[in-house]
Amino acid sequence: MFAQVVVDVVHTNVAKPFSYLIPEGMDVRPGMRVGIPLGHRQVSGIVVALSETCDVPPQRMRPIARVLDPYVTVPPHLLALAEQLAEQDHCPLAETLRLMLPAAMRTGRVQTRREATAQLAPNVDATAAAAAQKRAPKRATLLRMLADRQPHAVRELTALVASPGEALGKLAEAGLVCLSQREVFRLPYEEMESSPSVAPTMTGEQADVLRIMASALEAGQGAFLLHGVTGSGKTEVYLAMVRRVLELGRSAIILVPEIALTPQMVGWFRERFGPNTAVLHSRLTDGQRCDEWRRIRTGDAKVVIGARSAIFAPVEKLGLIVIDEEHEQTYLSDKHPRYDARRVAKSRCEREGATLLLSSATPSILSFAMAQRGDYTLVEMPHRVNGRPLPQVTVVDMRAELAAGNRSIFSQLLTQKLQACFSQGRQAMLFLNRRGYNTFVSCRHCGYVVHCPQCDVSMTLHQVEGSEKGELRCHFCGAHAPPPDVCPECGSRHIRYFGIGTQKVEEELHRLFPNVKTIRMDLDTTQKRDAHYQLLTAFREGRAQALVGTQMIAKGLDFPNVTLVGVVAADVTLNLPDYRAQERTFQLITQVAGRAGRADAPGEVVVQSYKPDHPCIIAAAAQDYRAFFTQEFQRRRAGYYPPFTVIARLLVESELHDAAEETNRRLYEMVNAYLASHPAQKRRVLMVRADEAPVVKIRGRYRYHVLLKVFEHPDAQPVLTLLGELSAGDYPLCQVYAEFDPATLI
Ligand code: ADP
Ligand code: ZN
Ligand code: ZN
Repeated sequence: MFAQVVVDVVHTNVAKPFSYLIPEGMDVRPGMRVGIPLGHRQVSGIVVALSETCDVPPQRMRPIARVLDPYVTVPPHLLALAEQLAEQDHCPLAETLRLMLPAAMRTGRVQTRREATAQLAPNVDATAAAAAQKRAPKRATLLRMLADRQPHAVRELTALVASPGEALGKLAEAGLVCLSQREVFRLPYEEMESSPSVAPTMTGEQADVLRIMASALEAGQGAFLLHGVTGSGKTEVYLAMVRRVLELGRSAIILVPEIALTPQMVGWFRERFGPNTAVLHSRLTDGQRCDEWRRIRTGDAKVVIGARSAIFAPVEKLGLIVIDEEHEQTYLSDKHPRYDARRVAKSRCEREGATLLLSSATPSILSFAMAQRGDYTLVEMPHRVNGRPLPQVTVVDMRAELAAGNRSIFSQLLTQKLQACFSQGRQAMLFLNRRGYNTFVSCRHCGYVVHCPQCDVSMTLHQVEGSEKGELRCHFCGAHAPPPDVCPECGSRHIRYFGIGTQKVEEELHRLFPNVKTIRMDLDTTQKRDAHYQLLTAFREGRAQALVGTQMIAKGLDFPNVTLVGVVAADVTLNLPDYRAQERTFQLITQVAGRAGRADAPGEVVVQSYKPDHPCIIAAAAQDYRAFFTQEFQRRRAGYYPPFTVIARLLVESELHDAAEETNRRLYEMVNAYLASHPAQKRRVLMVRADEAPVVKIRGRYRYHVLLKVFEHPDAQPVLTLLGELSAGDYPLCQVYAEFDPATLI
């Protein structure tokens, strides 16, 4: 027998599977991880197929050295998924297979952790044996503790018997106790306290949607879009569905869009399902990640909660995938291979016979349109739990504030509301989707703006501890620089700082309310591994009255004592040069507004804007999703934006400016030549352009792109496939990527 093995080395020379001989008696199956010789090296790889014949003469073929895991590492359906993704993305199979297991496991950096255990030997009567140990009270105590015949960690026995090692050794010698080792799993959020909880009585709306989905769940089919307003109790719906899935002996994956949201979700699931819940995301330690992965793979944990990459969790007998806050861009991977977790979920559910549930208070235009077309069954929960009202939203015209002489970043109304909120002992959340202190630095005299030397973006001023002037930082590459005293262009001393970030909001809050404690949550304050959990717990426990943050705090969080939400600058996302700017703005405002008034006290929201009459701001203030969808859908149709078209591009990156430009020009010509000879495809293409990318340099690499707008139609597939094929070609000194409706077009 022969095995086709994909070597875990991403290089075009080894992109194809290699054949290896299976040594006599070695149990090798597809999906197993094996150690194999490659040239003079030992490498690892994954068996993708077995065969009885082979075109290479067997004497020239080398044998598999060993099997690396005592089980099939990549289950068959994930193997098939990896193959499908590699084909779609025109990338090597080795690369998509890497998505299927933790990096630390592949590189072998992580050791399993073991602990010593003691267990009563078979056929030993603990009571009698203890009674016989009259002169050794320690041994007697130990025997009584082991009377339940279960293995006990020696570490735990220490709690009752000081240094039990010697006594256990003696008992083992006497054949009364068996000592051995067992594996221990490193648990994420171990310190999290969770007491078992029971499900509340479902509201009428919750019961209705559960009833609609019940038979699909039992049959392992169906794709649903749940549109439930903020605070309508969507999580309780997931919990009820997972309960049913477990009863059916199957597993579930729950995706959340942001690591910040995992602790809360894990807490809720652990309360109901205990250690059956596993967590997967990039902020776990390597040890935790490998252990959680193995708990899932071996079926110890049947409920997986995680961020985007958890969609590849190796569960078997999948029954349900829930995608919470399905509208979030974070479900699109920003690294290659670029996948959309929602599409992967759909394909897993179809392949593995499971139910898909996408869920949001503000569904993406794309998903809602698909639901209207019948691709998803739409289920709705239009009211908050227990008849609680949606929060009252007031839009403040910041132009009028300025005209009235208020130069503060807070309007008079927001200041008053904050005052009232704090004095009632309530909590407030302030949202601004920009971190740092000032967002750019410019010369008053000549207009020069400080840019990152590696990237084509302006640098942001950050306050840092121990530095009076602060520090300029690049949000793309992380480069640091001191703020200039004089303009590097003209030598003027008139350097000024513009634009506000979360640090400035926090400072302003301290100035206005010196006694109020605040917590800031953005990329800068959440660098430490457990920071999300620590900060959110502190706020939940009332150790601060205000939470200031970026999009990280905008969605999903449930703090009963928050009654006021302030949107400091609603226009930040509205002004982005992206056709999704309005959708993003509507989602962010509606979501963050939804954090207010989730328990008994009603909520209030103040939205500050320089464009208070913009239809998108008006719809968000009314929290009227349908109104927004209708207007936005029409705008997309009129402007030929997705979902009516696919925006696709070939992105060229190179350290050499001219190489990038030249390759881009060649690609543009190839695309045009193809269209010239394929008139049917040409009719499907609305636009082809070759340009500098909007951000022409990132991390020292120049970026150009060929941009296409293609009508959304099955017949237009050939031109999209062409782009994929072109991206897989070889271009001197350049990388070329094909992207279809990517998360950003920068
Ligand atoms: P959503 O995700 O829809 O915004 P959540 O699932 O966070 O809403 O629920 C909002 C709040 O309502 C939570 O505090 C939750 O515990 C509570 N809740 C949900 N369902 C019920 C119910 N059936 N009875 C009582 N309280 C509920
Ligand atoms: Zn200047
Ligand atoms: Zn940079």
